[in-house]
Amino acid sequence: MSEEVIVGIDLGTTNSAVGVVDSGFPILLADEDGRRLVPSAVWFGPHGCEVGHAALRRRGVEPVVTSAKRLIGRRLPEAGDYPLPLRGSDDGGIAIETGRGTTATPVEAAAEILRELKRIAEMRLGHDLTRAVITVPAYFNEGQRSATKRAGELAGWTVERLVAEPTAAALAYGLDRLGEQSRVAVFDLGGGTFDVSILSLRDGVFEVLATAGDTRLGGDDFDRALAAHVTGAEGIAPPDGDLGPRLREEAERVKRALSEDDEATFRLPFIDGVRSVERPVRRQEFEGLVAPFLDRMERCCRRAMQDAGIVPGDLDAAVLVGGSTRIPAVRDLAARVFERDPDLSQHPDEAVALGAAIQAGILGGTYRQVLLLDVTPLSLGIETFGGLMNVLIPRNTTIPCKAGEMFTNARDAQRSMQVRVLQGERELAKDNWELGSFEIGFAPAPRGKARVGVQFQLDESGLLEVLGRDVATGRDTIVKIESAAVDVADEAVERMVDESVEHAFEDMNARMHTEARLKAEELLPAVEAVLEDEGAAIPPEERRKIAGARAAVEEALASGAGPAVLKAAVERLDAATEALAARLVEDAMAARMQDQLDSGEGPPAGP
Ligand code: AMP
Repeated sequence: MSEEVIVGIDLGTTNSAVGVVDSGFPILLADEDGRRLVPSAVWFGPHGCEVGHAALRRRGVEPVVTSAKRLIGRRLPEAGDYPLPLRGSDDGGIAIETGRGTTATPVEAAAEILRELKRIAEMRLGHDLTRAVITVPAYFNEGQRSATKRAGELAGWTVERLVAEPTAAALAYGLDRLGEQSRVAVFDLGGGTFDVSILSLRDGVFEVLATAGDTRLGGDDFDRALAAHVTGAEGIAPPDGDLGPRLREEAERVKRALSEDDEATFRLPFIDGVRSVERPVRRQEFEGLVAPFLDRMERCCRRAMQDAGIVPGDLDAAVLVGGSTRIPAVRDLAARVFERDPDLSQHPDEAVALGAAIQAGILGGTYRQVLLLDVTPLSLGIETFGGLMNVLIPRNTTIPCKAGEMFTNARDAQRSMQVRVLQGERELAKDNWELGSFEIGFAPAPRGKARVGVQFQLDESGLLEVLGRDVATGRDTIVKIESAAVDVADEAVERMVDESVEHAFEDMNARMHTEARLKAEELLPAVEAVLEDEGAAIPPEERRKIAGARAAVEEALASGAGPAVLKAAVERLDAATEALAARLVEDAMAARMQDQLDSGEGPPAGP
């Protein structure tokens, strides 16, 4: 019986927490000292790890891994500014140098935090636990989600579900309001990530309508901007090109103080061994520094509302969660963009973990009247001929879901097809992220004759399974996309959707050109064959028209004409050959009928 308990975990950039449902209420489980938040910090010592407060106490003296969530499921070039030295890991991801010549991956660091939460929960509940729901930023892509799940498994958990953080916060908000119908925005700004989700709540159904966000935007960025501003103003080079733990800690302290007061003093004695900094910082000055970050958040909020098909007036509440929503300028931004006073009813640091516990309670059967319908944040598709992105599951589709499409071979006698699985919002494959790639074999067939089905299946956690099927043989290739890390160009997560709008025209032109070129390549050899066939009875006028149209297509291809010109030429050739193609099909059918009559077979029987 005790093994049936499922816990809910908020694995945060700065702090983590674990909760369960107890007598129908979600609660967080505290450590021996009564603290419900465990700092997401790990010290890798020669004889074992220290996690949380114990690890933080060593910061500044020894290498301590913090904000590992910023690196999880990423590759080295995208790591950005990080307090400890980084290297590439064997599996293509990142390894953090943890001192004494040792390294740890972000997955291993996250696993240590999850192991500590397991210890706390087992200590509090008095028995072993194995099942957990873990939250992830809504805007985590496939690679980041699967890395988080692996961290859970490494820590000894069976990960029952990954839940989006703002969705979890909405559960915490909505649990007391199950009888109501409302539409809410959840604005979640933590230490490292920003998410905004628009949900509809009705009769216990929590349905996410749209989500947007940035997996690299949070309080850490504000600290960094403030530290850089102060060292710049004082003419002090940041130690070792990095800001140094003392500088970062002081920046965070001043930032927090500015949430309360109009002015705070930045104090760092003997920062470079000689000089000391003592500089007053006004709130307004800080707000100027973080304005670019606020702009990025505003864009995400507007996009989420647009994707959900609503205007601010349609909302009943804008719920703020995450430690950084204590900043007055952040609250003002939320008020402005959602055109209402923000709802501060949820504990900014605890709502997500409570929501995770509620989701665990839903899975465990405690809350039978509650249903959660989440969405996938980014479109999923595959690369098709000509380097195009073919979307199978558009962003903001409710999960779990399935989608499939049939594809064919581009060349005669082709035996296999390379399937590149992509995530992103751009028209060209190269501008999206490759999640993985695999080969489907099929029976050789003439060009365009093989039939290969590709099916995407997204589970409730937003994890993808891809199935490829050769329809002729019924042979399946199943691939779970568990890429160690996804090649995400820096800031690409945040920029991707914006760019899809910005580049919409360019992208559409590129797609139009590729499609027209593929069509031309298909038509030209067929037209050539017919025109050269002496026996083909084509009236001279029609032959002249077709030849003219063919020359125009060839000219458009040779001269590198733009997509509109090429498309028009291809359409003209298509139209010019339409009547001829119909006659050829008719002739072929008549010939077949004659053959059958001659051989005494008769026409095929009806169904
Ligand atoms: P979370 O990831 O939700 O735990 O949020 C942690 C972030 O919230 C860190 O960047 C903290 O510096 C920030 N934070 C916590 N309290 C405050 C405060 N009073 N004012 C400004 N930022 C805060």
